[in-house]
Amino acid sequence: MARGRRSGRGAEQCTFCDRPPHRVDRLFAGPPGVYICNFCVDDCHALLRHDQRPGGGLDLVAQKIPRPREIKRELERYVVGQEWAKKVLSVAVHTHYKRMLSNLEEDSDVEMDKSNVLLIGPTGTGKTLLARTLARILDVPFAIGDATTLTEAGYVGEDVENLLLKLLQAADFDVPQAERGIIFIDEIDKIGKTIHNVSITRDVSGEGVQQALLKMLEGTIANVPPQGGRKHPEQQYIQVDTSKILFMAGGTFSGIEEIIGQRTGQRLIGFSSEGTDEGEEELDLAKLLPQVETDDLLKFGLIPELLGRFPVVAPVLPLSEKDLIRVMLEPKNAIIRQYQKLFEMEGAELKFTEGALQSLSKKALARGTGARAVRSILESSMLDILFDLPEKKKGLVFTVTKDAIEGKKPILSKSEKTRESRRAKRESA
Ligand code: ADP
Repeated sequence: MARGRRSGRGAEQCTFCDRPPHRVDRLFAGPPGVYICNFCVDDCHALLRHDQRPGGGLDLVAQKIPRPREIKRELERYVVGQEWAKKVLSVAVHTHYKRMLSNLEEDSDVEMDKSNVLLIGPTGTGKTLLARTLARILDVPFAIGDATTLTEAGYVGEDVENLLLKLLQAADFDVPQAERGIIFIDEIDKIGKTIHNVSITRDVSGEGVQQALLKMLEGTIANVPPQGGRKHPEQQYIQVDTSKILFMAGGTFSGIEEIIGQRTGQRLIGFSSEGTDEGEEELDLAKLLPQVETDDLLKFGLIPELLGRFPVVAPVLPLSEKDLIRVMLEPKNAIIRQYQKLFEMEGAELKFTEGALQSLSKKALARGTGARAVRSILESSMLDILFDLPEKKKGLVFTVTKDAIEGKKPILSKSEKTRESRRAKRESA
Protein backbone atom coordinates (compact mmCIF):
# COMPACT_ATOMS: atom_id res chain seq x y z
CA MET A 1 0.00 0.00 0.00
CA ALA A 2 1.39 3.36 -0.97
CA ARG A 3 1.73 5.96 1.74
CA GLY A 4 3.55 8.75 -0.03
CA ARG A 5 2.33 12.24 -0.56
CA ARG A 6 1.84 13.83 -3.93
CA SER A 7 5.05 14.85 -5.54
CA GLY A 8 5.79 18.18 -7.17
CA ARG A 9 5.51 16.34 -10.50
CA GLY A 10 1.83 15.85 -9.81
CA ALA A 11 1.94 12.15 -8.74
CA GLU A 12 3.31 10.03 -5.92
CA GLN A 13 6.18 7.95 -7.24
CA CYS A 14 9.57 6.62 -6.13
CA THR A 15 12.17 9.34 -6.50
CA PHE A 16 14.86 6.67 -7.15
CA CYS A 17 13.25 4.38 -9.75
CA ASP A 18 10.17 6.34 -10.84
CA ARG A 19 7.83 3.42 -10.09
CA PRO A 20 4.25 4.69 -9.59
CA PRO A 21 2.31 3.67 -6.39
CA HIS A 22 0.32 0.89 -8.05
CA ARG A 23 3.58 -0.91 -9.02
CA VAL A 24 5.07 -0.99 -5.49
CA ASP A 25 4.03 -2.51 -2.17
CA ARG A 26 5.02 0.53 -0.16
CA LEU A 27 6.19 4.03 -0.87
CA PHE A 28 7.96 5.84 1.98
CA ALA A 29 7.78 9.61 2.11
CA GLY A 30 10.74 11.83 2.88
CA PRO A 31 10.86 15.63 2.63
CA PRO A 32 8.07 17.09 0.43
CA GLY A 33 8.07 15.46 -2.97
CA VAL A 34 10.66 12.77 -2.12
CA TYR A 35 9.69 9.08 -1.92
CA ILE A 36 11.40 5.70 -1.87
CA CYS A 37 9.72 2.40 -2.71
CA ASN A 38 10.19 -0.99 -0.99
CA PHE A 39 12.22 -2.33 -3.97
CA CYS A 40 14.76 0.46 -3.71
CA VAL A 41 14.98 -0.04 0.07
CA ASP A 42 15.74 -3.74 -0.55
CA ASP A 43 18.43 -2.86 -3.09
CA CYS A 44 20.09 -0.44 -0.65
CA HIS A 45 19.97 -3.05 2.08
CA ALA A 46 21.68 -5.61 -0.16
CA LEU A 47 24.39 -3.10 -1.03
CA LEU A 48 25.02 -2.32 2.63
CA ARG A 49 25.28 -6.01 3.53
CA HIS A 50 27.76 -6.51 0.70
CA ASP A 51 29.96 -3.66 1.96
CA GLN A 52 29.98 -5.08 5.46
CA ARG A 53 31.41 -8.43 4.44
CA PRO A 54 34.06 -9.41 7.03
CA GLY A 55 37.52 -8.02 6.60
CA GLY A 56 37.04 -6.89 3.03
CA GLY A 57 39.13 -9.92 2.03
CA LEU A 58 38.30 -12.66 -0.44
CA ASP A 59 34.66 -12.10 -1.24
CA LEU A 60 33.59 -15.51 -2.33
CA VAL A 61 30.32 -14.47 -3.84
CA ALA A 62 31.08 -11.36 -5.79
CA GLN A 63 34.81 -11.53 -6.41
CA LYS A 64 36.29 -13.88 -8.91
CA ILE A 65 38.72 -16.42 -7.50
CA PRO A 66 42.13 -15.73 -9.05
CA ARG A 67 43.00 -18.15 -11.82
CA PRO A 68 46.02 -20.47 -11.33
CA ARG A 69 48.03 -18.42 -13.83
CA GLU A 70 47.30 -15.22 -11.92
CA ILE A 71 48.27 -16.83 -8.61
CA LYS A 72 51.52 -18.13 -10.08
CA ARG A 73 52.37 -14.77 -11.62
CA GLU A 74 51.94 -13.13 -8.23
CA LEU A 75 54.09 -15.82 -6.55
CA GLU A 76 56.88 -15.04 -9.05
CA ARG A 77 57.24 -11.59 -7.51
CA TYR A 78 58.32 -13.00 -4.15
CA VAL A 79 59.62 -16.53 -4.63
CA VAL A 80 62.64 -17.47 -6.76
CA GLY A 81 62.67 -20.78 -8.63
CA GLN A 82 60.38 -23.58 -7.38
CA GLU A 83 58.51 -23.55 -10.70
CA TRP A 84 56.84 -26.90 -10.14
CA ALA A 85 55.76 -26.13 -6.57
CA LYS A 86 54.38 -22.77 -7.69
CA LYS A 87 52.32 -24.44 -10.40
CA VAL A 88 51.02 -27.20 -8.13
CA LEU A 89 50.16 -24.67 -5.42
CA SER A 90 48.43 -22.28 -7.80
CA VAL A 91 46.15 -25.06 -8.95
CA ALA A 92 45.60 -26.42 -5.42
CA VAL A 93 44.73 -23.05 -3.99
CA HIS A 94 42.45 -22.15 -6.87
CA THR A 95 40.68 -25.50 -6.49
CA HIS A 96 40.40 -25.09 -2.75
CA TYR A 97 38.62 -21.75 -2.96
CA LYS A 98 36.47 -22.96 -5.86
CA ARG A 99 35.49 -25.88 -3.67
CA MET A 100 34.50 -23.54 -0.89
CA LEU A 101 32.22 -21.70 -3.30
CA SER A 102 30.71 -24.90 -4.57
CA ASN A 103 30.04 -26.25 -1.08
CA LEU A 104 28.43 -22.94 -0.18
CA GLU A 105 25.84 -23.43 -2.89
CA GLU A 106 22.85 -24.99 -1.21
CA ASP A 107 21.77 -27.18 -4.10
CA SER A 108 25.29 -28.50 -4.67
CA ASP A 109 25.07 -32.30 -4.85
CA VAL A 110 28.81 -32.96 -4.98
CA GLU A 111 30.75 -32.61 -1.75
CA MET A 112 34.30 -31.81 -2.83
CA ASP A 113 37.36 -32.95 -0.88
CA LYS A 114 39.88 -30.68 0.76
CA SER A 115 43.12 -30.04 -1.04
CA ASN A 116 45.56 -29.61 1.84
CA VAL A 117 49.12 -29.32 0.58
CA LEU A 118 52.35 -30.98 1.71
CA LEU A 119 55.61 -29.23 0.78
CA ILE A 120 58.75 -31.35 0.83
CA GLY A 121 62.25 -29.96 0.58
CA PRO A 122 65.37 -28.72 2.35
CA THR A 123 65.36 -25.92 4.86
CA GLY A 124 65.41 -22.28 3.73
CA THR A 125 64.14 -22.93 0.22
CA GLY A 126 60.84 -21.11 0.44
CA LYS A 127 58.23 -23.47 1.91
CA THR A 128 56.98 -21.02 4.54
CA LEU A 129 57.47 -18.16 2.11
CA LEU A 130 55.21 -19.85 -0.47
CA ALA A 131 52.43 -20.36 2.10
CA ARG A 132 52.74 -16.85 3.48
CA THR A 133 52.75 -15.31 0.00
CA LEU A 134 49.65 -17.27 -1.02
CA ALA A 135 47.79 -15.92 2.01
CA ARG A 136 48.86 -12.43 1.01
CA ILE A 137 47.75 -12.90 -2.61
CA LEU A 138 44.34 -14.13 -1.52
CA ASP A 139 44.10 -11.60 1.30
CA VAL A 140 43.18 -14.25 3.86
CA PRO A 141 44.43 -14.66 7.46
CA PHE A 142 47.57 -16.75 7.93
CA ALA A 143 49.05 -18.63 10.90
CA ILE A 144 52.17 -20.75 11.39
CA GLY A 145 52.63 -23.60 13.84
CA ASP A 146 55.22 -26.25 14.49
CA ALA A 147 54.29 -29.91 14.50
CA THR A 148 56.99 -30.82 17.02
CA THR A 149 55.53 -28.60 19.73
CA LEU A 150 52.06 -29.93 18.99
CA THR A 151 53.00 -33.52 19.73
CA GLU A 152 54.09 -32.60 23.21
CA ALA A 153 50.78 -30.93 23.98
CA GLY A 154 48.98 -32.09 27.05
CA TYR A 155 52.14 -31.36 28.98
CA VAL A 156 54.26 -28.43 27.91
CA GLY A 157 53.56 -27.91 24.24
CA GLU A 158 50.75 -26.25 22.39
CA ASP A 159 47.24 -27.49 21.91
CA VAL A 160 46.09 -28.04 18.38
CA GLU A 161 43.43 -25.41 19.07
CA ASN A 162 46.19 -22.86 19.60
CA LEU A 163 46.87 -22.99 15.88
CA LEU A 164 43.29 -21.96 15.31
CA LEU A 165 43.63 -19.28 17.94
CA LYS A 166 46.60 -17.83 16.04
CA LEU A 167 44.48 -17.79 12.90
CA LEU A 168 41.64 -16.08 14.78
CA GLN A 169 44.09 -13.48 16.04
CA ALA A 170 45.32 -12.90 12.49
CA ALA A 171 41.67 -12.36 11.52
CA ASP A 172 40.98 -9.99 14.43
CA PHE A 173 38.63 -12.62 15.84
CA ASP A 174 36.40 -12.47 12.80
CA VAL A 175 35.36 -16.14 12.72
CA PRO A 176 34.06 -16.38 9.11
CA GLN A 177 37.24 -14.69 7.89
CA ALA A 178 39.44 -17.07 9.92
CA GLU A 179 37.51 -20.03 8.52
CA ARG A 180 38.75 -19.22 5.03
CA GLY A 181 42.36 -18.69 6.12
CA ILE A 182 45.57 -20.66 5.64
CA ILE A 183 47.48 -22.51 8.38
CA PHE A 184 51.07 -23.61 7.77
CA ILE A 185 52.36 -26.47 9.93
CA ASP A 186 56.14 -26.74 9.88
CA GLU A 187 58.25 -29.85 10.58
CA ILE A 188 55.43 -32.23 9.76
CA ASP A 189 58.05 -34.91 9.01
CA LYS A 190 58.91 -35.10 12.71
CA ILE A 191 55.40 -36.04 13.73
CA GLY A 192 55.42 -39.64 12.54
CA LYS A 193 58.40 -40.43 14.69
CA THR A 194 57.10 -38.93 17.92
CA ILE A 195 53.47 -39.81 17.63
CA HIS A 196 53.90 -43.38 18.91
CA ASN A 197 55.84 -42.26 21.98
CA VAL A 198 53.14 -39.77 22.73
CA SER A 199 50.42 -42.43 22.80
CA ILE A 200 52.45 -44.59 25.13
CA THR A 201 53.35 -41.94 27.63
CA ARG A 202 50.23 -39.86 27.67
CA ASP A 203 46.76 -40.63 28.95
CA VAL A 204 45.47 -42.67 26.05
CA SER A 205 41.89 -42.51 27.29
CA GLY A 206 41.94 -38.76 26.60
CA GLU A 207 41.78 -37.58 23.02
CA GLY A 208 45.25 -37.74 21.56
CA VAL A 209 46.81 -34.67 20.09
CA GLN A 210 47.35 -36.52 16.87
CA GLN A 211 43.65 -37.34 16.69
CA ALA A 212 42.81 -33.68 17.23
CA LEU A 213 45.26 -32.74 14.50
CA LEU A 214 43.85 -35.28 12.08
CA LYS A 215 40.32 -34.09 12.79
CA MET A 216 41.31 -30.49 12.32
CA LEU A 217 42.90 -31.27 8.95
CA GLU A 218 39.85 -33.23 7.83
CA GLY A 219 37.35 -30.60 8.89
CA THR A 220 35.64 -30.31 12.25
CA ILE A 221 33.97 -27.78 14.50
CA ALA A 222 36.70 -26.98 17.01
CA ASN A 223 36.22 -25.23 20.33
CA VAL A 224 38.92 -22.62 20.65
CA PRO A 225 39.61 -21.08 24.06
CA PRO A 226 39.94 -17.33 23.37
CA GLN A 227 42.80 -16.95 25.83
CA GLY A 228 44.79 -19.91 24.54
CA GLY A 229 46.43 -22.39 26.88
CA ARG A 230 44.51 -25.14 28.68
CA LYS A 231 40.80 -25.44 28.40
CA HIS A 232 38.68 -24.59 31.40
CA PRO A 233 35.12 -25.83 31.71
CA GLU A 234 33.81 -22.38 32.59
CA GLN A 235 35.56 -20.74 29.63
CA GLN A 236 33.51 -19.54 26.67
CA TYR A 237 34.82 -21.19 23.53
CA ILE A 238 34.85 -19.78 20.06
CA GLN A 239 33.60 -22.36 17.58
CA VAL A 240 35.63 -22.60 14.41
CA ASP A 241 34.72 -24.77 11.44
CA THR A 242 38.02 -26.03 10.02
CA SER A 243 36.56 -27.58 6.89
CA LYS A 244 37.27 -24.55 4.74
CA ILE A 245 40.68 -23.73 6.18
CA LEU A 246 43.51 -24.54 3.78
CA PHE A 247 46.22 -26.44 5.61
CA MET A 248 49.73 -26.47 4.25
CA ALA A 249 52.47 -28.49 5.87
CA GLY A 250 56.20 -28.40 5.31
CA GLY A 251 59.04 -30.73 6.14
CA THR A 252 62.61 -31.37 5.07
CA PHE A 253 62.15 -35.16 5.04
CA SER A 254 65.90 -35.50 5.06
CA GLY A 255 66.92 -38.90 3.77
CA ILE A 256 63.85 -39.24 1.55
CA GLU A 257 66.13 -38.97 -1.49
CA GLU A 258 67.69 -42.29 -0.56
CA ILE A 259 64.27 -43.95 -0.38
CA ILE A 260 63.33 -42.47 -3.76
CA GLY A 261 66.72 -43.51 -5.15
CA GLN A 262 66.27 -47.09 -3.97
CA ARG A 263 62.79 -47.35 -5.45
CA THR A 264 63.71 -45.86 -8.81
CA GLY A 265 67.07 -47.63 -9.02
CA GLN A 266 68.93 -44.36 -9.23
CA ARG A 267 72.28 -43.88 -7.64
CA LEU A 268 73.01 -40.91 -5.51
CA ILE A 269 75.96 -39.43 -7.34
CA GLY A 270 78.24 -37.54 -5.03
CA PHE A 271 76.85 -39.30 -1.99
CA SER A 272 79.61 -41.26 -0.34
CA SER A 273 81.03 -41.86 3.10
CA GLU A 274 84.26 -40.05 2.20
CA GLY A 275 82.57 -36.69 2.25
CA THR A 276 80.59 -35.32 -0.62
CA ASP A 277 80.77 -32.44 -2.93
CA GLU A 278 77.94 -30.15 -1.81
CA GLY A 279 77.04 -29.07 -5.33
CA GLU A 280 76.85 -32.61 -6.67
CA GLU A 281 74.68 -33.88 -3.90
CA GLU A 282 72.24 -31.04 -4.18
CA LEU A 283 72.00 -31.54 -7.89
CA ASP A 284 70.91 -35.04 -7.13
CA LEU A 285 68.35 -33.98 -4.61
CA ALA A 286 66.94 -31.63 -7.20
CA LYS A 287 66.53 -34.55 -9.59
CA LEU A 288 65.25 -37.06 -7.07
CA LEU A 289 62.79 -34.98 -5.05
CA PRO A 290 60.38 -34.35 -7.94
CA GLN A 291 59.94 -38.12 -8.22
CA VAL A 292 58.59 -38.46 -4.69
CA GLU A 293 55.56 -40.73 -4.28
CA THR A 294 53.18 -41.52 -1.43
CA ASP A 295 54.93 -44.83 -0.77
CA ASP A 296 58.24 -43.07 -0.19
CA LEU A 297 56.64 -40.88 2.43
CA LEU A 298 55.10 -43.88 4.15
CA LYS A 299 58.46 -45.64 4.12
CA PHE A 300 59.98 -42.52 5.59
CA GLY A 301 57.64 -42.96 8.55
CA LEU A 302 54.84 -40.49 8.00
CA ILE A 303 51.68 -42.04 9.43
CA PRO A 304 49.19 -43.03 6.73
CA GLU A 305 46.27 -41.17 8.34
CA LEU A 306 48.26 -37.98 8.23
CA LEU A 307 49.45 -38.51 4.68
CA GLY A 308 45.88 -39.23 3.60
CA ARG A 309 44.89 -35.74 4.63
CA PHE A 310 47.39 -34.12 2.29
CA PRO A 311 46.22 -35.03 -1.21
CA VAL A 312 48.58 -32.54 -2.82
CA VAL A 313 52.34 -33.11 -2.49
CA ALA A 314 54.78 -30.60 -3.94
CA PRO A 315 58.57 -30.88 -3.92
CA VAL A 316 60.51 -27.72 -3.10
CA LEU A 317 64.03 -27.96 -4.49
CA PRO A 318 67.42 -26.95 -3.10
CA LEU A 319 68.51 -23.51 -4.26
CA SER A 320 71.61 -23.33 -6.45
CA GLU A 321 74.34 -20.68 -6.29
CA LYS A 322 72.60 -18.80 -9.09
CA ASP A 323 69.23 -19.06 -7.35
CA LEU A 324 70.69 -17.58 -4.18
CA ILE A 325 71.98 -14.58 -6.11
CA ARG A 326 68.49 -14.13 -7.54
CA VAL A 327 67.03 -14.39 -4.02
CA MET A 328 69.31 -11.55 -2.95
CA LEU A 329 68.38 -9.32 -5.89
CA GLU A 330 65.00 -10.08 -7.41
CA PRO A 331 62.03 -10.41 -5.03
CA LYS A 332 60.12 -7.24 -4.19
CA ASN A 333 61.56 -7.35 -0.69
CA ALA A 334 65.00 -8.73 -1.68
CA ILE A 335 67.66 -8.20 0.97
CA ILE A 336 70.00 -6.20 -1.28
CA ARG A 337 67.18 -3.93 -2.37
CA GLN A 338 66.44 -3.31 1.29
CA TYR A 339 70.06 -2.38 1.99
CA GLN A 340 70.15 -0.13 -1.05
CA LYS A 341 67.02 1.66 0.20
CA LEU A 342 68.70 2.13 3.57
CA PHE A 343 71.77 3.69 1.94
CA GLU A 344 69.58 5.88 -0.22
CA MET A 345 67.90 7.19 2.92
CA GLU A 346 71.33 8.21 4.17
CA GLY A 347 72.07 9.99 0.90
CA ALA A 348 74.47 7.27 -0.29
CA GLU A 349 74.51 4.59 -2.98
CA LEU A 350 75.29 0.90 -2.54
CA LYS A 351 76.61 -1.44 -5.23
CA PHE A 352 77.71 -5.07 -5.26
CA THR A 353 80.26 -6.50 -7.70
CA GLU A 354 79.52 -9.78 -9.45
CA GLY A 355 82.35 -11.37 -7.43
CA ALA A 356 80.78 -10.21 -4.15
CA LEU A 357 77.45 -11.76 -5.07
CA GLN A 358 79.09 -15.05 -6.03
CA SER A 359 81.12 -15.13 -2.86
CA LEU A 360 78.02 -14.41 -0.73
CA SER A 361 76.10 -17.14 -2.44
CA LYS A 362 78.95 -19.70 -2.08
CA LYS A 363 79.27 -18.94 1.63
CA ALA A 364 75.51 -19.26 2.12
CA LEU A 365 75.41 -22.56 0.24
CA ALA A 366 78.15 -23.98 2.46
CA ARG A 367 76.02 -23.40 5.55
CA GLY A 368 73.33 -25.71 4.22
CA THR A 369 70.44 -23.58 5.43
CA GLY A 370 69.34 -22.35 2.02
CA ALA A 371 68.51 -18.69 1.67
CA ARG A 372 68.34 -18.24 5.43
CA ALA A 373 72.15 -17.92 5.59
CA VAL A 374 72.27 -15.06 3.08
CA ARG A 375 70.83 -12.53 5.50
CA SER A 376 73.18 -13.33 8.38
CA ILE A 377 76.31 -13.40 6.17
CA LEU A 378 75.39 -10.11 4.60
CA GLU A 379 74.53 -8.58 7.96
CA SER A 380 77.94 -9.35 9.40
CA SER A 381 79.70 -8.05 6.25
CA MET A 382 77.74 -4.81 6.39
CA LEU A 383 78.00 -4.19 10.13
CA ASP A 384 81.00 -1.83 10.11
CA ILE A 385 79.77 0.28 7.26
CA LEU A 386 76.26 0.54 8.71
CA PHE A 387 77.83 1.66 11.98
CA ASP A 388 79.70 4.50 10.25
CA LEU A 389 77.23 5.42 7.52
CA PRO A 390 75.16 8.09 9.33
CA GLU A 391 78.37 10.03 10.04
CA LYS A 392 79.69 9.89 6.45
CA LYS A 393 79.22 12.76 4.08
CA LYS A 394 76.39 12.54 1.58
CA GLY A 395 76.77 11.48 -2.02
CA LEU A 396 79.17 8.56 -1.46
CA VAL A 397 79.04 5.42 -3.55
CA PHE A 398 79.91 2.23 -1.69
CA THR A 399 80.95 -0.83 -3.61
CA VAL A 400 80.86 -4.22 -1.91
CA THR A 401 83.56 -6.45 -3.41
CA LYS A 402 84.49 -10.11 -3.08
CA ASP A 403 87.32 -9.11 -0.73
CA ALA A 404 84.89 -7.22 1.48
CA ILE A 405 82.64 -10.28 1.78
CA GLU A 406 85.64 -12.44 2.58
CA GLY A 407 86.74 -9.94 5.22
CA LYS A 408 90.04 -9.14 3.46
CA LYS A 409 89.27 -5.48 2.74
CA PRO A 410 86.74 -2.96 3.99
CA ILE A 411 83.86 -1.82 1.80
CA LEU A 412 85.13 0.83 -0.61
CA SER A 413 83.56 4.22 -1.10
CA LYS A 414 84.09 6.89 -3.68
CA SER A 415 82.29 10.15 -3.85
CA GLU A 416 80.06 10.49 -6.85
CA LYS A 417 81.72 13.79 -7.60
CA THR A 418 85.19 12.25 -7.97
CA ARG A 419 83.81 9.54 -10.21
CA GLU A 420 82.09 12.08 -12.38
CA SER A 421 85.19 14.27 -12.77
CA ARG A 422 87.36 11.24 -13.59
CA ARG A 423 84.90 10.11 -16.21
CA ALA A 424 84.79 13.64 -17.67
CA LYS A 425 88.59 13.70 -17.85
CA ARG A 426 88.65 10.30 -19.56
CA GLU A 427 86.07 11.42 -22.09
CA SER A 428 87.87 14.66 -22.90
CA ALA A 429 91.24 12.87 -23.27
P1 ADP B 1 61.62 -23.02 4.65
O1 ADP B 1 61.69 -23.74 3.34
O2 ADP B 1 62.57 -23.60 5.64
O3 ADP B 1 60.22 -22.84 5.16
P2 ADP B 1 61.53 -20.16 4.39
O4 ADP B 1 60.44 -20.05 3.39
O5 ADP B 1 61.18 -19.83 5.80
O6 ADP B 1 62.20 -21.58 4.33
O7 ADP B 1 62.77 -19.25 3.91
C1 ADP B 1 63.52 -18.45 4.77
C2 ADP B 1 63.82 -17.11 4.10
O8 ADP B 1 64.69 -17.29 3.02
C3 ADP B 1 62.57 -16.48 3.51
O9 ADP B 1 61.96 -15.59 4.40
C4 ADP B 1 63.10 -15.74 2.30
O10 ADP B 1 63.59 -14.49 2.68
C5 ADP B 1 64.27 -16.57 1.86
N1 ADP B 1 63.92 -17.55 0.81
C6 ADP B 1 63.95 -18.89 0.91
N2 ADP B 1 63.63 -19.47 -0.24
C7 ADP B 1 63.38 -18.49 -1.12
C8 ADP B 1 62.97 -18.46 -2.50
N3 ADP B 1 62.77 -19.58 -3.21
N4 ADP B 1 62.79 -17.26 -3.07
C9 ADP B 1 62.98 -16.11 -2.38
N5 ADP B 1 63.38 -16.07 -1.08
C10 ADP B 1 63.57 -17.24 -0.45
